[in-house]
Amino acid sequence: MKKISIIGAGISGLYLANLLERDKSFSYKIFEKKNSIKNNDGYGIQLSANSINLLNNIGFQKINASDVYFPKKVIFYTAKNSKKISEIDLSQFNQLNNRYTTLKRSSLVNLLLENIPQEKIILNSELQNIKYQDKFTLNFRDKETEQFDYIVAADGVFSKTKQILFHKKGLPKYFNSIALRGNIHNFKNLDISLYLGSNFHFVIYPINQKNEFNFILILRKELIENEIANKNLFEDKSFINNLLNHVSSKSNINLTERVKDIKCFPIFVSNQIQIPKIKNVFLIGDAFFSFSPSFAQGASQSIEAGNELYNHLKNNSPNYYKTRILKTKQIKSRSSLNHFAFHLSNPINVFFRNIFLKYLSKNKSFFRKLFR
Ligand SMILES: Cc1cc2nc3c(=O)[nH]c(=O)nc-3n(C[C@H](O)[C@H](O)[C@H](O)COP(=O)(O)OP(=O)(O)OC[C@H]3O[C@@H](n4cnc5c(N)ncnc54)[C@H](O)[C@@H]3O)c2cc1C
Repeated sequence: MKKISIIGAGISGLYLANLLERDKSFSYKIFEKKNSIKNNDGYGIQLSANSINLLNNIGFQKINASDVYFPKKVIFYTAKNSKKISEIDLSQFNQLNNRYTTLKRSSLVNLLLENIPQEKIILNSELQNIKYQDKFTLNFRDKETEQFDYIVAADGVFSKTKQILFHKKGLPKYFNSIALRGNIHNFKNLDISLYLGSNFHFVIYPINQKNEFNFILILRKELIENEIANKNLFEDKSFINNLLNHVSSKSNINLTERVKDIKCFPIFVSNQIQIPKIKNVFLIGDAFFSFSPSFAQGASQSIEAGNELYNHLKNNSPNYYKTRILKTKQIKSRSSLNHFAFHLSNPINVFFRNIFLKYLSKNKSFFRKLFR
């Protein structure tokens, strides 16, 4: 029986574990550095129709209908006056049971945890080192594990597994942007509303049928190394309030009053795609490649990668990295273009950007890779 170690109990690791759990030809364990996985924060997540198709295979329909939302459109607005620029009809990418979906991240994680026996998730296990001699032995802070045939690095953007494998080369880079997440109650628009401003954009979308909305702001911000490394800065109330006030003053929505439970963090993205030289080591999710969050694709790609890796392990096919690299390159180029276009400040550029957005919104194939 093939023994698989999964490092990290995020969306990618948990989705893969769900597939392995149903297949008796594998044994697996998940090692997670935190002491708990469940959380009840209200932040949202957007999932493409493709990833919903894959989640349906593990019982996504079991989630209470009132805990999910199926937005019909993405509507672009000018932040300053909330004037509509253009819209994308999401339903064109949907199939009967596989619809573009928004929900609380915690609802998704709870679903992913349902089918995994508790004893297979080893908490408080922060990977420190890997020894390799025919098989893999993993070292955690205060323990060494049994041996495994495979390692799956699902430990997120700052993947320790990747740092060990590539000797700290290719660490993620600061994306010169900060994210602010929060919750809004009773917003007026029931679609995905994307507000574009100079050097920022923010997105508001429903996360269930209970009038709860997710707020996410991406703001360009140059920071020096010391600031990026200073965790206290991103928890500092006056730093956060200044950022929100700045954006609020450039929009006709009173964000300062409306957005609650705000969390702030610097955005890091992958520098390059890296493939381990050692056989039987696989990177999935953000550990493989972390995208800029401009088109909310990370979780969907994590699920797709989990599925591709499972098929690879099951069928002994050599295609995992080939498929992943192709898909990653496609998403990366679209996301980078979006990020650039969303944050334009020069009025002439904005004018042409808006015309371009109107044209693009009719171009089904451009958005297919992002929304399907
Ligand atoms: C602001 C923002 C908004 C986003 N919004 C969306 C969205 O709407 N839709 C979407 O699809 N995606 C979104 N994403 C991206 C998405 O959240 C990520 O791509 C996705 O969560 C990646 O999942 P993962 O399992 O690869 O990594 P993670 O979810 O980061 O999980 C990694 C796990 O590994 C654990 N770990 C780390 N190091 C170790 C170690 N040394 N040993 C053991 N365990 C370890 C961590 O504790 C964690 O539990 C967003 C990202 C950002 C930054």
